[in-house]
Amino acid sequence: MRKIAVLTSGGDAPGMNAAIRAVVRKAKYHGVEVMGIYRGFEGFIEGNMELLELGSVGGIIQRGGTKLFSSRCPEFKEEKYQLQGIEKMKQASVEGLVVIGGDGSYRGANALTKLGFPCVGIPGTIDNDIPGTEYTIGFDTALNTVVESIDKIRDTATSHENSFIVEVMGRDAGDLALWAGLAAGAESVLIPEEPFNLDEIIERIKRGEARGKKHSIIIVAEGVMSGSELAKILKEKADIHTRVSVLGHIQRGGSPSARDRVLAGRLGARAVEILLNGSSGRAVGIKNHQVIDYDLDEAFKLKHKAELSLYTLSKELSI
Ligand code: ADP
Repeated sequence: MRKIAVLTSGGDAPGMNAAIRAVVRKAKYHGVEVMGIYRGFEGFIEGNMELLELGSVGGIIQRGGTKLFSSRCPEFKEEKYQLQGIEKMKQASVEGLVVIGGDGSYRGANALTKLGFPCVGIPGTIDNDIPGTEYTIGFDTALNTVVESIDKIRDTATSHENSFIVEVMGRDAGDLALWAGLAAGAESVLIPEEPFNLDEIIERIKRGEARGKKHSIIIVAEGVMSGSELAKILKEKADIHTRVSVLGHIQRGGSPSARDRVLAGRLGARAVEILLNGSSGRAVGIKNHQVIDYDLDEAFKLKHKAELSLYTLSKELSI
């Protein structure tokens, strides 16, 4: 291959820029040119792209968001548009594509590969919900943002002797909530993967109050219900008054953590190696600290599983 392209798609995540940089630098190292496609699959269809030089990706390793912009492009599910994009790539002599995104973006990459245009997927999402990899790029940074925020909320919760419900992102995955719960010492954590017991949560709060605790922090993953819904239930069922804090999009932004940057570097480099070795339809990931790659098809068959031993531990430590 003489020329490849890279795009970011779906929800943005801190570390996407570091991954773009790694793809460009690794490819250049092997004498291969890289086109940066703007706005995900939308730009792929239109052929909206630009040659990325070594310097084009300078000074972005520490920046959140994505230099290439991201978008959601529903029409890309139609083969007509996929073929249109492949044609644009052929016209520009682009022979392969690295897609940085979540599982939706992986489906786009897989569709292109099946149409004969080689693609490799890099997991970029704060939700950590991509099957086959233990971590996704962005998760560590988002986790740190959530934990810092909860630490701050705890200060005010203590001063005012309030209980707080903190709603965190994660779509259908509970990873962010679970890890944040352990790291911030939350009293209760609600995740979509485990049925929650309302009586137990109430009991925990009451037990805390009885031993003089002035506040408690309850983390609810957005995939379970909203923070305000939970507040309403606690009020109605046990007359417990809580304040609600919805962390929202601050979780998606910010400078990537060192861990996410290193992960992005490792996965970006492997993605390029795969394409240059003539392989495609693969996703890269991390398992037991080692970089791995596996069939995109496999990624759709597997199901992401949150580390449920952390759930048990979190309960034990917040007794
Ligand atoms: P994420 O990649 O973060 O999961 P989305 O689910 O929104 O985000 O997917 C991002 C983009 O990937 C979509 O806007 C669309 O362009 C493309 N995509 C999603 N599903 C498919 C599919 N089944 N076939 C082709 N492209 C898809």
